[in-house]
Amino acid sequence: MTLLDEAIRNSTGSSSSSEETPGESSEEDGPIDLLSTVVTKLCFGCVDESRVTKKKLITVCMHGDETCGMKATNELIKEGFFLKELQNTTTRVTIVVANPRGAEANKRFIDVNLNRIFHEDRLRRKGVEPPSPIENDPLFTTAYEVGLVQKLANEIEECDEYIDIHSTSAGSLPFALPAADPESEKLATSFAVDFVIQKLVKSVQGTSIGWAQILKKKAICFECGQHTDVKTIEVAKRVIKRFVTDRIEETAKNVLQCESNQVIRKGFHFVRTPPVAFERVSCNEVLAEDDEVGKIKCTASAGAYIIMPTANPILGEEAWFWGEVLEMKKEEKVEKVEKEM
Ligand SMILES: [Zn+2]
Repeated sequence: MTLLDEAIRNSTGSSSSSEETPGESSEEDGPIDLLSTVVTKLCFGCVDESRVTKKKLITVCMHGDETCGMKATNELIKEGFFLKELQNTTTRVTIVVANPRGAEANKRFIDVNLNRIFHEDRLRRKGVEPPSPIENDPLFTTAYEVGLVQKLANEIEECDEYIDIHSTSAGSLPFALPAADPESEKLATSFAVDFVIQKLVKSVQGTSIGWAQILKKKAICFECGQHTDVKTIEVAKRVIKRFVTDRIEETAKNVLQCESNQVIRKGFHFVRTPPVAFERVSCNEVLAEDDEVGKIKCTASAGAYIIMPTANPILGEEAWFWGEVLEMKKEEKVEKVEKEM
C-alpha cells in the first residue's frame, strides 16, 4: 500500500481531494487494494478556485523507485503539517504521485523513463495544439508512462511554482536542479541543500522541469539522497516544508554550474573506481572508456566535480554530469588579480 493511500484517510475531506485509478472501490474498513484504489493526487489549502492566489505543485515518484517524496508527504500529513500551515490561506498546494504503477512496483519506470518524455512539440498546452499530439503516438496505448505525461504536463501548466522530488541510485549529498532561469535559480538557493546545480536541466531533454521552464514557471528538481537511505526522507520533508511555507531557515551551501553530461554508449565501463557524487577530478584525468569515443576524461582546465554518477549504467542515459564551481571561479580570479598586483 502506498503512503498516499494512508494520506487520504488521515486528512480531512474538506481540505483534500483524490484521484483514483479506475477499478473497483475497496471496502471502507478492509485493507486497501492498491491496484483499485491508489490515491495519486492530493490538494491542500485554498480549494476555492476564485480565491486562490498562488498554486504550488509537488510531484513525487516521477521515478517509481524514488519514494522519499511520497513518504515525506505522508509523514507530514500524519504530523498535521499541511492543515496547520495552510489554514486561512489563499495558497493551494497540489501533490501528485507521478508514476503510481512504477511506485507500486518499486521500479524506475514500467515501459519508458517518464522524466524524458515531456517533449514540448508533442504536448498540448492552453491555446497551443501540437502538430502531432502525444495521443497519436503509437506508444500511447501500450507504454504506461506515455499515457501519463499529458496529465502531468497539464498540472504543471496549471501551477505557479513547481518542485519535483527525486533520489539517486548512488550515495549523494542533497542537491537542487533549478530550471535554467534566474528566478528559479534564486529560489533554489533558499533551500537547505548542499549544492544548487545551475544549467544541468538544459543538458537533459524531456524532463518535467524542462517543460515547466518552457511555460515560464519557477521550477526545481530536488535529489534528496540515495534511494534506500532513510535520511533522504528527512531531506524531502525539509524541502517540502520550505516550499509550502516560504519560511527560509537555511540556504544552499554551494552553487555549481553544469554545461555538459557524459552519455553511456556501447561498451561503456569505468577504468578506475567509479566516481562518488561530487568527487573532484583534475584536468585530463581518465574516468571511463567506451567503444565509440575511447577514453573519457575531464577536459576542464581547472578540473570539475562529478555530479550524479550512476551506480547502474543504462545505455543512452547519463553516466554523470560535469560541474564547475561558480564561487571558485571568483576566488581564482581574485587570487590572479592579487598576484598580478
Ligand atoms: Zn529520479
